[in-house]
Amino acid sequence: MPDAPLLELDGLDAGYAGTPVVRDLHVTVSPGEVVALLGPNGAGKTTTMTTVAGLLDPIGGTVRFGGEDVGGVPAHLLARRGIALVPEGRALFFGLTVREHLTLAKGKGRALARDELLELLPELQKCLDRKAGVLSGGEQQMLAVGRALVSRPRLLLVDEMSLGLAPVIVERLLPILRRVATDLGAGVLFVEQHVALALEVADRAYVLNHGRLVLDGPASDLRDRPDLLRSSYLGDGAAPAAA
Ligand code: ATP
Repeated sequence: MPDAPLLELDGLDAGYAGTPVVRDLHVTVSPGEVVALLGPNGAGKTTTMTTVAGLLDPIGGTVRFGGEDVGGVPAHLLARRGIALVPEGRALFFGLTVREHLTLAKGKGRALARDELLELLPELQKCLDRKAGVLSGGEQQMLAVGRALVSRPRLLLVDEMSLGLAPVIVERLLPILRRVATDLGAGVLFVEQHVALALEVADRAYVLNHGRLVLDGPASDLRDRPDLLRSSYLGDGAAPAAA
């Protein structure tokens, strides 16, 4: 039996200036679960992630975190409650070292010890005294994830980890999300354009198209149904949920 959902989006409408670009979204993420949010460009994935992180107020529906309605709670308070976002584009300070990024990310709460973090992300060890601006794209992404993990989040949101990275690097990075779920017991919701790689690491996946949920199911089922995935991306009607 899966645990009670950590995150529950119930009929969520999300968007900008009162106009939804995501409509009637139903998504759950449980502790220890890795869930992929997939879909073509402009489908509404980033809008969903920023709404869950509290950077946008929901327009309609409910966002529940740990059983509580958190719609409209600002991002800094959600961060204290345990939601961490790794934004698209990483948002690093190129003049600061890896060590400085990790130190700055330490809040007052139950921070992850440096050793624990380096166990999850061993490749950061050799980079500790390098500035973010001279790291490779893959190392920068590891740092962006590492910085989000310092606060020991209960829910990790990762928006397009693979942006600008070669598939071979993405293949090395995505298993980190599994380790975060297994070792920290966190729920993980991630956006990914490399669908096949995402389905290798995810437990379940949702596909959005034009702001609507068009397909969802266990990742193993979706891997076996490339036809359904293809049609959900092309938008030829709402595909049935994979059984
Ligand atoms: P991508 O994979 O290209 O990042 P996405 O699935 O993350 O796409 P969103 O970035 O959420 O999609 O965009 C969904 C829709 O919302 C698009 O039509 C986009 O143009 C629109 N949009 C995004 N940001 C804003 C904004 N700040 N103001 C108004 N509309 C926006």
